[in-house]
Amino acid sequence: MEKLPFERPVINKINAGVSDKFGMKSANRCISHIDGVAVKDMISEYGSPVYVISEKTIRSTYQAALTAFQTRYPKVQFAWSYKTNYINAVCKVFHQEGSWAEVVSGFEYSKAIANGVPGSKIIFNGPDKSRTDLTKAIENGSLIHIDHFDEFYEIVSITELINKKAKVAIRVNMDAGIYPVWDRFGFNYENGEAWSAINKIMVEPNMELMGLHTHIGTYITTPGAYAIATSKLSALAVRIEHKYKHHIKYIDLGGGFASKNTLKGAYLPGSDTCPTFDDYAEAITNALNNSEIQYEHMPTLFLESGRALIDDAGSLLGSVLANKRLADGRRSTIIDIGVNMLFTAFWYEHNIVPAQQSPSFTEDTTIYGPLCMNIDVIRGAIQFPALNKGDQVVISRIGAYNMTQWMQFINYRPNVVMIDLNSKTHVIRKNEDHESMNSLDVVPTYLEKINL
Ligand SMILES: *Cc1c(COP(=O)(O)O)cnc(C)c1O
Repeated sequence: MEKLPFERPVINKINAGVSDKFGMKSANRCISHIDGVAVKDMISEYGSPVYVISEKTIRSTYQAALTAFQTRYPKVQFAWSYKTNYINAVCKVFHQEGSWAEVVSGFEYSKAIANGVPGSKIIFNGPDKSRTDLTKAIENGSLIHIDHFDEFYEIVSITELINKKAKVAIRVNMDAGIYPVWDRFGFNYENGEAWSAINKIMVEPNMELMGLHTHIGTYITTPGAYAIATSKLSALAVRIEHKYKHHIKYIDLGGGFASKNTLKGAYLPGSDTCPTFDDYAEAITNALNNSEIQYEHMPTLFLESGRALIDDAGSLLGSVLANKRLADGRRSTIIDIGVNMLFTAFWYEHNIVPAQQSPSFTEDTTIYGPLCMNIDVIRGAIQFPALNKGDQVVISRIGAYNMTQWMQFINYRPNVVMIDLNSKTHVIRKNEDHESMNSLDVVPTYLEKINL
């Protein structure tokens, strides 16, 4: 008879099926398929772990957001926040849906151009735009959102040199009730700095003030903050109309809509507390429609929503490496997904479930990643069933920021796969391997020979 693995018994109070302060515990869900494709098939074909993107979820989420805004305001334009997920295939889906590109570096700018986005449909944000980047953006007629006065003077000097007008907006930071205020980006509203920047731009012959921009923060769960931000930008637009008879073309409310992920320490799950796109749209469009901006000069509403549009479309599939008991008797499970692949594990309690039917009895478990680092904790404490080595797990809602902030560390970065609308899978970013990882290393010749 095959020898069964021994596990030291632990006495535990059974609380499966017993209600807690949140009500009845939901049955231990299992995600065996994503968009009709079996998790085990994807792992066997593309390896473990593997990132999976649902094209269907991207498109339906985008359409839901667009509908929420377009039914309330006539001129709406989304711009895809590249830093949230800049896998080219993902960007392309957003661009097919009509989204422009919102970039925050020369690297992202080049990516957007290579993805076929016309320069005039790229919004260039952020505090780091080199002279070369700015020159390219001015030549292409991109919308440059000025972050600070040094950038303003740099743009003036470039436009004088190449004799071309720059299309600009300013980023405005403000007290919208979200603290701390992100006053490190852009020009402050309350202390008059934003108004001074506008005055400088308006008298600058080589600059055309196209719009006003703000990005008040991220994972903002209070739509009212957007109403305040919209009112403040509208007030600036009206002031520009009064003083210069100039009508700006757009107001850009940035991103920051929350996703349904649960923040660490949150009392209720994010899926219960996250406002809907309708909530955000209602706050923003009411503030715009009720502003003093003249009806015939209503600006286009730009939105740069990132995480709320992509989080749900991403999943990470992985496998159990081992189970072990910690010194105090608690169960721990080690999986092959580390925090280097799941950067957002530092602030979210990610939803992690088995990919196959598993026992309904759960136990308080710590889920560790595979890294030889103490900080590699995917979930500090989760009610989890006992899985065997080799069993598979799915971590959902990981589409935002993980495929950009990931770190190559200890292991290679895995494949990223997209499931198309016909449930066909495509590798959209290849896994790293020995060759690709070593292709950038250069060993000076005097170190070639080693003496062992
Ligand atoms: C990061 C960023 C976004 C996207 O933010 P989310 O919180 O992911 O929606 C949009 N605009 C700017 C300027 C950003 O820096």
